[in-house]
Amino acid sequence: MTASTIRTTPAPADDDAAATVARLHAAFADGRTKPLEWRKEQLRALRRLLVEQEDAFVAALRADLGKSATEAYTTEIGFTLNEIDHTLRHLDRWLRPRRVSVPLALRPAQARTVREPLGTVLVIAPWNYPLQLALAPMVGAIAAGNSVVVKPSELAPATSAALAHWLPRALDPQAVAVVEGGVPETTALLEQRFDHIFYTGNGAVGRVVMAAAARHLTPVTLELGGKSPAIVEPGTDLATAARRIAWGKFMNAGQTCVAPDYLLAIGEAATEIEPHLTAAIREMYGAEPARSADYGRVVNERHFDRLTALLDSGRIVTGGAHDRADRYLAPTVLADVDPDAPVMREEIFGPVLPILRVPDLDTAIAFVNAHDKPLALYAFTDSAVTKRRLTTETSSGALSFGAPNAHLAVPGLPFGGVGESGIGGYHGEHSIDTFSHTKPILDKPLIGDPLRVAYPPFNRVKSGL
Ligand code: NAD
Repeated sequence: MTASTIRTTPAPADDDAAATVARLHAAFADGRTKPLEWRKEQLRALRRLLVEQEDAFVAALRADLGKSATEAYTTEIGFTLNEIDHTLRHLDRWLRPRRVSVPLALRPAQARTVREPLGTVLVIAPWNYPLQLALAPMVGAIAAGNSVVVKPSELAPATSAALAHWLPRALDPQAVAVVEGGVPETTALLEQRFDHIFYTGNGAVGRVVMAAAARHLTPVTLELGGKSPAIVEPGTDLATAARRIAWGKFMNAGQTCVAPDYLLAIGEAATEIEPHLTAAIREMYGAEPARSADYGRVVNERHFDRLTALLDSGRIVTGGAHDRADRYLAPTVLADVDPDAPVMREEIFGPVLPILRVPDLDTAIAFVNAHDKPLALYAFTDSAVTKRRLTTETSSGALSFGAPNAHLAVPGLPFGGVGESGIGGYHGEHSIDTFSHTKPILDKPLIGDPLRVAYPPFNRVKSGL
């Protein structure tokens, strides 16, 4: 790192959560986070940090999840850089006051909305994209003018340590803090009062976060998970569909919140797609994915044991090989899966792809609607009717035709869930909405007083009007 980005003064050392949060509240109160220039400077500094320390972050991601350098770059570092660039490009416009028309009876007057920062934000991040999911919300929180505490996941310890080391050196340490730790440390943080809590992870902890937030009437964003189905219709290009499904499913060894969890294959598409999936996996990771530099590992032994216990939920089409010492589980496709099989009872969050056969689109839609609203619904179809029906007859965090996971890379699209898959959204301008209060302002001149018609008493004709 160049001298320009390293601070000589280390970040203040706080001995507990209360002191850290008090420091960040004070930073917000003194107004330092509000000027547009401060916000942009922080984003530029974060950008420089990611570029200059790319190797350190790639090494941390490899240590935590066996991520290849390319995947670490595209899905974590590059992804965050895009979010920063998009924000820097549009922030002036997003923060401009917006005029609102005033009804005739209230004129003369002007009305507008301004976006004001909320104060101090807590970002709690998970382990699966431990860099991106800590930093992308932080980009939005800073851009909106807040001070921020980031709590990375203890299950990705190398990335957590890298963030704790670098962020306070690159960014304004009075206004941005990293608190490392697991449940006790997060619990201590959640006892403090924040102005917004942004949590990414599972729904059980999401409830804990929301209950803690309720004590202080703090708004929350909950970015949760669930089982995201991919509907496959016969007659479509199954070779391309299989490649895209395999790419979306097996990146990061299946540990992606929006990965297709299972296939709902209609009619003969269920069997026809099998060889295409086998071929796609081989094309991407070779005959022995264990030796592919591009294939990740399961985060820990607990998840490894959970995932290998799901392997007898169906007929193994391809994969199934595993090695606990290496936390390796091959990209695996299961066919003839029963809707009640263990693999269908929980979010898989690993490299196991079950195929469920359904007779028709009506059954597929009914199946989706009988389950929790997913974070994403995917469909591989050429039919405009199918697309229209899925748009209007199902509910999901996002709906994507022809490509899993890719909607996240469109910065203009909000990213978030609905129902069990989450509350609220972010990315780009939607992050500004999340981390701001949109304040309405009415400005009515005091000259003359046409409002007198509205004043009591109401039961007599007013004189002099
Ligand atoms: P995790 O175990 O890393 O937990 C997430 C965060 O919650 C961590 O920072 C952890 O320290 C904290 N935490 C854990 N237990 C806690 C408790 N009792 N009290 C307070 N804080 C606690 O990650 P995870 O939950 O295993 O992540 C996987 C889940 O996250 C999956 O369901 C996945 O779909 C979902 N996810 C969603 C998104 C999204 O953007 N919607 C992204 C990634 C993951």
